[in-house]
Amino acid sequence: MQVHYMDNAATTPMYEEVIDTMAEVMRTYFGNPSSLHKLGVQAERLVRRARETIASGLRCKPEEIRFTSGGTESNNLAIRGAAYRYRSRGMRLITSSIEHASVYETFRQLEKEGFQVTYLPVDATGQIVLGALKEALTDDTTLVSIMQVNNETGRIQPIADIARMLREHSPAALLHVDAVQAIGKLPVTPGTLGIDLLTCAAHKLRGPKGIGFLYCRAGVELSPLLLGGGQESGLRSGTENVPAIVGMAKAVRLALEEQPAFAEHTAALRGKLTDCIGQIPELVLNGSSDPAAMAPHIVHFSFPGMKSEVLVHALEQHGIYVSTRSACSSGAEKPSRVLTAMGCPRENAVSGIRLSYSLMQTLEDADYVCRMLKETVDRLKPSASLRGRR
Ligand SMILES: *Cc1c(COP(=O)(O)O)cnc(C)c1O
Repeated sequence: MQVHYMDNAATTPMYEEVIDTMAEVMRTYFGNPSSLHKLGVQAERLVRRARETIASGLRCKPEEIRFTSGGTESNNLAIRGAAYRYRSRGMRLITSSIEHASVYETFRQLEKEGFQVTYLPVDATGQIVLGALKEALTDDTTLVSIMQVNNETGRIQPIADIARMLREHSPAALLHVDAVQAIGKLPVTPGTLGIDLLTCAAHKLRGPKGIGFLYCRAGVELSPLLLGGGQESGLRSGTENVPAIVGMAKAVRLALEEQPAFAEHTAALRGKLTDCIGQIPELVLNGSSDPAAMAPHIVHFSFPGMKSEVLVHALEQHGIYVSTRSACSSGAEKPSRVLTAMGCPRENAVSGIRLSYSLMQTLEDADYVCRMLKETVDRLKPSASLRGRR
């Protein structure tokens, strides 16, 4: 059966040319970038070029790009690194109630360590309540961490407004943005947006897994989490994952080149999918009805009365691969933290389904998904109503 991969927000297939490049680096340029001989120098040059490629894509300085093992590590490094480094300035931190687990759990841990954390509420469309941010900002707030695009619903957050507010109300507070679901999907330029720290993971934009970077604005200091040989200017010790770094740089370059086409194409897919879901009375679209407020590559809906897993497996029978919410939060029975924060009733929060797609999915794929969704919901709904009666 043909596979319709509608789970690109969980991870993406790698670009063929990225796989080829990485294989060549593994085979030929296996040196340690810290070694003084020729093989080391070659590897060091590859890492340097990769840093320059990413910096030019983000229009920042190469030394502002720090390689990590992915989105989770970049988020941990940004948040804990800043909280620890600036703890003498203040113990207050701000984030939102809809962040990725790698942000949310990090803040929960910092609370246990004595920091005071405000989790900003969101409105029914999934947008951070800006008034609550204004109220929460104090002189001893050192860090605010807000994602650019929510990985579950696709809701875009008003990062420029948040940055402006920070500058006006708490000039000392740093702004960290988890941009994992934004890079390659929306234009992202941390320098002009007023962002101090920005997270990227390669595998969400057709690069390899286990590699990412943190944009760290010049002048911002972080306490390192990993100590050792002092790689990445002392911020992240450990021998560089050279093939993955080179592969990520290539994927970032390709994704940024494709970004306008990606946005246009996925917006057309989004239009088709939301129209279709809107016509199925049993389904409820989550997020904002304003397409400009939503990332183009994600559609999220609930099937109240039906556990997400049931629909996931029913769609899989038709070759359609989707997610219940974020791939990273298992423990399936629990209602979605993000949907709950949006005020969704429990039966909506346990029945969420995410469709996420890329340039590789066609309009025909979207038509097929629509047909199968209608058919599947029709087939499942009698048992849903039975369950309701019980
Ligand atoms: C996937 C994801 C992460 C985690 O990235 P990993 O590289 O898988 O650790 C963090 N934030 C968001 C928004 C994500 O979608």
